[in-house]
Amino acid sequence: MGREIRRVPLDFDFPLDETWSGFLSPDELDSLPCPDCKSGRSKRAEYLHDLWYGNVPFRPEDTGSMPYLPSAPAIRSKAERNVAHAPDYYGVGETAIGLEAMRLTTLYNNAWCHHLAQEDVEALVEGDRLREFTHTFDANRNPRWEKIEPAAVPTAAQVNEWSLTGFGHDGINAHIAIEARCKREGVESTCQTCEGEGGIEAYPGQWADREAWEPTDPPAGDGWQLWQTVSEGGPISPAFATPEELARWMASPEYTWGASKHSAISYESALAFVNAGWAPSFVSTPQTGLVSGVEYVGMQD
Ligand SMILES: [Zn+2]
Repeated sequence: MGREIRRVPLDFDFPLDETWSGFLSPDELDSLPCPDCKSGRSKRAEYLHDLWYGNVPFRPEDTGSMPYLPSAPAIRSKAERNVAHAPDYYGVGETAIGLEAMRLTTLYNNAWCHHLAQEDVEALVEGDRLREFTHTFDANRNPRWEKIEPAAVPTAAQVNEWSLTGFGHDGINAHIAIEARCKREGVESTCQTCEGEGGIEAYPGQWADREAWEPTDPPAGDGWQLWQTVSEGGPISPAFATPEELARWMASPEYTWGASKHSAISYESALAFVNAGWAPSFVSTPQTGLVSGVEYVGMQD
């Protein structure tokens, strides 16, 4: 993230403020979408993914779990919190809380992720994804997480109640539970057409070509040019014959650093930067506060 100096031919005329084409992999290396999947998952895994998030019909009984009631403490307190945070939206009082608790109950009862079976829990424990249950935590200890011995395995009911609070499960947990369930069912979890890639080759050997592709630098020459490295990289100044000319341009009003006024730089800073060749976008130190990287480099001489 920053700016750098490149030496390019004086007549280098690649458009300013665009990413240098040599840094972008060509369109012909883009793979085709897989005809049989959206994401590299098998049909079954895709269905289970939807089931996890409640995008297809799910019933708690399907995993041997009990439906929640609006009176469940975790649901009740979340409903109270939601209503308190947005009274304009929910209204106030017991009716508002009751309606919100009903909405949450429906939401939670419609998703596998809140109704894991014991086998799902075991898969997550095996993947070290339920440390709140299997480890103790102490911020002043090293390591801070320590495994409980003998090994603790939470019940599905405990994990499911936990999933209603805080962050609950993340995408990695979803992946582990889906993988484990496919394995138990003896079905593939990845799409066999694209081998889990989510796309297929547009021509034989395309992926080998993609592997072999390497970015190309701009042509080299006698000119001095300022490039941004925030995106893949590209020129942001004309090419100048000398470092001094580029530094003068950088110190002129034409050159704005992140479009903020305080970041205008002196000719001396700019010249030190051009000679150093590279600076991060911003640098923060106790001595200087937050300054542009160019300014910081300039201060080092
Ligand atoms: Zn596929």
